[in-house]
Amino acid sequence: MNSTFLKLALDTPLDQVFDYRWVPEREDEAPPEIGQLALVPFGRRETSGVIIDVVHQSDVPPEKVKEVLAVRRNLPPLSGQWLSLCRFAADYYQRPLGEVMVPALPKNLRAGTPVSLERALKRLAKLHAAPDPTPVAAQELNAGQRQAVEAIAVAPGFAPILLHGVTGSGKTEVYLQTAACLLQRAQAAGQPAQVLILVPEINLTPQLEQNIRARFPGLPLATLHSGLAEGERLTHWLAAHLGQASIILGTRLAVLASLPHLKLIIIDEEHDPSYKQQEGLRYSARDLAIWRARQLDIPVVLGSATPSLESWQHAQSGRYRRIDLHERAVRNAVLPTVRLIDMERDKPSEGITSTLIGAIKARLEKGEQTLLFLNRRGYAPVLSCDACGWVSNCPRCTAFMVLHKPEHRLRCHHCSLEQRIPRSCPTCGNVDLQPMGRGTQRVEEGLQQMFPQARILRIDADSTRLKGSAQAAFDTVHRGDVDILVGTQMVAKGHDFQRLTLVGVLNPDTALFSHDYRAGERLFAQLMQVAGRAGRAGQQDGGNPSEVWIQTRYPQHPLYGAVMAHDYARFAAGLLEEREQAGLPPYMHQALLRAEARELQEALDFLSTAAGLMDHPGITINEPIPMTLTRVANTERAQLLIECVSRPALQAFLREWMKALRAARTRVRWSLEVDPVDI
Ligand code: ADP
Ligand code: ZN
Ligand code: ZN
Repeated sequence: MNSTFLKLALDTPLDQVFDYRWVPEREDEAPPEIGQLALVPFGRRETSGVIIDVVHQSDVPPEKVKEVLAVRRNLPPLSGQWLSLCRFAADYYQRPLGEVMVPALPKNLRAGTPVSLERALKRLAKLHAAPDPTPVAAQELNAGQRQAVEAIAVAPGFAPILLHGVTGSGKTEVYLQTAACLLQRAQAAGQPAQVLILVPEINLTPQLEQNIRARFPGLPLATLHSGLAEGERLTHWLAAHLGQASIILGTRLAVLASLPHLKLIIIDEEHDPSYKQQEGLRYSARDLAIWRARQLDIPVVLGSATPSLESWQHAQSGRYRRIDLHERAVRNAVLPTVRLIDMERDKPSEGITSTLIGAIKARLEKGEQTLLFLNRRGYAPVLSCDACGWVSNCPRCTAFMVLHKPEHRLRCHHCSLEQRIPRSCPTCGNVDLQPMGRGTQRVEEGLQQMFPQARILRIDADSTRLKGSAQAAFDTVHRGDVDILVGTQMVAKGHDFQRLTLVGVLNPDTALFSHDYRAGERLFAQLMQVAGRAGRAGQQDGGNPSEVWIQTRYPQHPLYGAVMAHDYARFAAGLLEEREQAGLPPYMHQALLRAEARELQEALDFLSTAAGLMDHPGITINEPIPMTLTRVANTERAQLLIECVSRPALQAFLREWMKALRAARTRVRWSLEVDPVDI
């Protein structure tokens, strides 16, 4: 009799596929198909895997081959294109195939519970039956937008398009009308079509989702992000996989969704660091999206006011087409005036200079909103004792415990350790412990004292811990029930606040002197982003002009000059030149091997051994060094940077090197990151 074996990709660190014997329940039962899911015994547990091949012979000794427990028959198989996408990601990021494929699927599908799928399909029907908000007509495009939409819509085959548009230039409108154009064309041709829209922040999905629903009443929309409950996640994933959803809106994880009719990909704020996954499969959603577009021969739009240097360079060299939107779309809306406040001259009280206080007052008088941006949450980054020099070090990390006053806690932002705030100094007993520095909570407190009448709202990761609370907070701002908004980068991105005419940046200087060569690029993007929140509705009669005030001790710094000039192109040109001279990305390709151990020496020794495992002509392997944040949760961490001017050469080396590393037994935990963003 002819036996059937399934080759399965399973979620394990072992870099191999696994053979299982499939035995039909009935004689006439057709064998499973590639791309279906199978439930199998693995060690002492049961697990689900993706069938990547169906064969009639196995090299595994027969007594070792176990039997498949069940095959998910009710799920149409994952497509060959999806399997190739995962294969590419596994190869490129040097991960076992199963560790790419399986985690990309909703948990409920992997768990092997048969009921949940049925329920999800029912929910799907309900989802589509939901009433839409009042429809909103498409905006009339301005010349720049029209040119952009046309260029994208007529692009034949694979076409990467960098949409470089200043904040408020109406990129969203371009996305929506391009999507509409493609979907209509497909419909006219009687073909199914899907559009994938990626956004960097989970908090930006509701705003865009609402826009999409209002614009396309009745059009099935799926959202994919980590904020969905498992049941919802399954429902939305299925809507995408079954081809029922025409628009799929999501954060980075959506790039790995199964999208059988994908015809267009849009990546909003393509430069955003959150497109890079920082654990497990450390992929760049932007890069995978571009790969997907090439695979499918479809257009991909990369939108940003401050593109990544990688994308900008591709546009300069002609690999990407660039379309610029120089002006704000709303009539009367101009980019805000950006000015600096020299903190050496205008000394801040409660972290806010008198110039900025004056500007806030002017907003309060006219009923306009102010946004104060400070990228540091908590009350103060450290608590200290003046008498003996004690500081609130985290006992488990090379970091301070951050003072969280409303929560009455010291909290480590790296290992999540929490302690009660000590009443007196743990070493000398001094009862007068001082908070040093300033986070959003302290700014909020200061503002409440300065402007007791004002409605002040803080939005950061702490204030929005509960599900739904971020949305509620943003709604409050949009309703106009807030005068002064204090927040971290959470409020800097994407939001279209209509009454906001003032942005104050409280303390951006630290990023100027970071060891990370990308810090300047990031700061620039962040400042342009947050500045872009001001004056989006255009100047109102008798209202204040839109302004951005940046408090700094380094007013001469060229980065601030570029921000004041709103001149991304000049800034990027300067950075690219520096990078080329210094041999840094995008002129160099990098990978980072990280190691973790109880003792730092152990981690460093492992990295030294790793460096010596193979000959590596043409590849630079740097010295192992401790990571900047060396200890986290009692684990010492070190890293090894690998560089090469040729991407294929680096890839070839990494492939062999990973094999050697996996074979080398060690107690040290290690991980590899290709194209690292945090070095
Ligand atoms: P971006 O994403 O480029 O920062 P948005 O897409 O949020 O900008 O658009 C900013 C504002 O401009 C929104 O309020 C939007 O409704 C408006 N807008 C977009 N296109 C037009 C247009 N052609 N005419 C008038 N207003 C427009
Ligand atoms: Zn003390
Ligand atoms: Zn800690």
